[in-house]
Amino acid sequence: MKNIYSNIYSFNRKNLEKTIKSLKQANIVGLPTETVYGLAGNAYSKKAVKKIFKLKKRPKINPLIVHYDSFKQASKDVYLNENFRKLYKKFCPGPLTFILKKKRKSKITSLVTANLGSVAVRFPNHKVIKKILKLLDFPLAMPSANVSENLSPISALDVLDEFKDKLKIIINGGNSKIGIESTVIDLTGKPKILRPGIISSNEIKYILKTILSNKKARIRSPGMMKRHYSPGIPIVFGKKKISSNHAFIVFGKKYKNRKNYFNLSKKGNLKEAAANLYKTMRKIKKRKYKKIFIDKIPNRGPGLAINDRLLRASK
Ligand code: AMP
Ligand code: MG
Repeated sequence: MKNIYSNIYSFNRKNLEKTIKSLKQANIVGLPTETVYGLAGNAYSKKAVKKIFKLKKRPKINPLIVHYDSFKQASKDVYLNENFRKLYKKFCPGPLTFILKKKRKSKITSLVTANLGSVAVRFPNHKVIKKILKLLDFPLAMPSANVSENLSPISALDVLDEFKDKLKIIINGGNSKIGIESTVIDLTGKPKILRPGIISSNEIKYILKTILSNKKARIRSPGMMKRHYSPGIPIVFGKKKISSNHAFIVFGKKYKNRKNYFNLSKKGNLKEAAANLYKTMRKIKKRKYKKIFIDKIPNRGPGLAINDRLLRASK
């Protein structure tokens, strides 16, 4: 059954079959994951991957994350190593992306990896994407389902908002529970976090029993570009003079409810705040506020990931 929006579909057997068929024909579909919604296409098909870049208006130098159903499936395309095994065992499926060396015989189209010798690999944890990956015999290249530099989508309606009828199928899998992009860790050498996320560097250090590199990254990647995740309105840190056409993003219980105050977590829970971040910014944008002021968010755990996104959004 279709929703009132003709390209948003609920997750059932018939729509699952339609989605699989579409992916096999090198088409692009919008799919839910636990982090954010993605634009999915066959990672082995140049034709499909070209469409992803075109839809997103994404620069070709920015590689895509490849999504797999299992360790075994991924081992066809990348070299496994001990750090990867340990982190996989602890956190996967889940919001963690690994940069690994690409095998020479891998079928991943070079457009996916921007011709780098490495591949970004993830095992998403959402029933819709898990089921789809299980039924396919190829992995899915899948960046966030937003036009480049815009806010990442955390619902099927957000995806519709970004692409309108340019996407024939968007599967509705509810709101993404985590609500921000995965942690990205480079494991091609000394482990190094390229993008902070809900899984923190401390948790990773604990599992790997080693310190992480803090050298400047050699590889350019989209999550590391300065301007990204932007709501398209000026963002200012701290509370200056806030008028009624300004929105104030706050955190914690000390704030009263006001029309233009948006509390990421009244309880002061950083995970909850991360899950509410893009949702809140999208709401503020829709309500046509002229400027966003941001309260201080503690810079620890998920707070590091939130501040990373806010800083980029403010550029
Ligand atoms: P997005 O698809 O918007 O979630 O962003 C993709 C992220 O994956 C970027 O932040 C990059 O850091 C990372 N990435 C993808 N492929 C590679 C690669 N081969 N090497 C390094 N980083 C990569
Ligand atoms: Mg993105």
